[in-house]
Amino acid sequence: MIEAKDYIEQLQLWVDGNSTHIGEVKKGICCPDFSCCLPELKAPKEERELFQELYLTEQDVEYEGMLMMFLGRMLSNKINVAGRIG
Ligand SMILES: [Zn+2]
Repeated sequence: MIEAKDYIEQLQLWVDGNSTHIGEVKKGICCPDFSCCLPELKAPKEERELFQELYLTEQDVEYEGMLMMFLGRMLSNKINVAGRIG
């Protein structure tokens, strides 16, 4: 069971540059930019700080917008990887 405080701790570590995955691989929670599992996706520090601020101040629309941006990067990265293999 993953609690909000675990997520807040993960966010802080991530902002500090330590991308950590909560819980089991494939079941737990990735960092917002997925850099715990895909280090090449690591977001710049300014983006990490902004994301944390949006989360902690409950600016949900902006926060979700950033999540979508990170998700989009992750998906296009996967497509590139698949393209290289295929
Ligand atoms: Zn992960």
